[in-house]
Amino acid sequence: MKKVLVFLMMAVVACSMLLTGCGGGEKKAAEPAKVLRVGTEPAFAPFEFPKKDSNELTGFDVELIQAIGKQMGRKVEVAGMGFDALIPALNAGNIDCAIAGMTITEERKKAVTFSDPYYTSGLIIMVKKDNDAVKSIADLKGKRLAAQIGTTGEMKSRTVEGAKVTTFNTQDEAALELKNGGVDAVIGDLPVMEYYLAQGGDKYCKTVGEKMEAEQYGIAVKKDSKLAGEINQAMAELKKNGEFDKIYKKWFGEKK
Ligand code: GLN
Repeated sequence: MKKVLVFLMMAVVACSMLLTGCGGGEKKAAEPAKVLRVGTEPAFAPFEFPKKDSNELTGFDVELIQAIGKQMGRKVEVAGMGFDALIPALNAGNIDCAIAGMTITEERKKAVTFSDPYYTSGLIIMVKKDNDAVKSIADLKGKRLAAQIGTTGEMKSRTVEGAKVTTFNTQDEAALELKNGGVDAVIGDLPVMEYYLAQGGDKYCKTVGEKMEAEQYGIAVKKDSKLAGEINQAMAELKKNGEFDKIYKKWFGEKK
């Protein structure tokens, strides 16, 4: 009799633990699902950068992901981190997606899944304003180059014969090194360089040559996550209803 009672008591305790455990678990699972945790590298104007005198981020990517989140019925929370930390953060499950002017490459496709492309970019060379010797990538052989760490600009720089490549956390830091004379050229994303020049960088620097082969930016999610399909669907809707164009025009004008 005593044994039966003990057994019964244990069973009741186990059941209530199960119940509260399950109940609590369900609640927890349902809430974060509404928030879309977005990672970005917040020093990549005009795609993602802090508003003047504020920590709040703005830019084409930021407004695009906010519109996508709204379309999906999810609250968007954007966290800033180093560019090279984005893919590890996705894989660790710390963020749901990354939007950071990230080029869709075969190499990255092995680690993450990309949304449909949303912006056509490409690399360009930037030199000091008074440098007339560099006209194309062929003229960079053996030169000192700066690039942002983990980017396609760094990968391209490493293909230049005999070049000494120094990497920086942000594109702006690479540009500063050029301005200070520490390197001969920077290789980086054209729209970001153009923005930098337009913001006053043209007093010291200029871009040379043509944009190298086109690169497509995509939103990265964890490998094979179905979130990519949901993002694509939301983005297609924004393209249909004119919202995508509105955001695009705000940041880049009419050109497409
Ligand atoms: N488009 C480049 C890349 O994907 C740079 C991106 C960035 O610095 N945010 O490598």
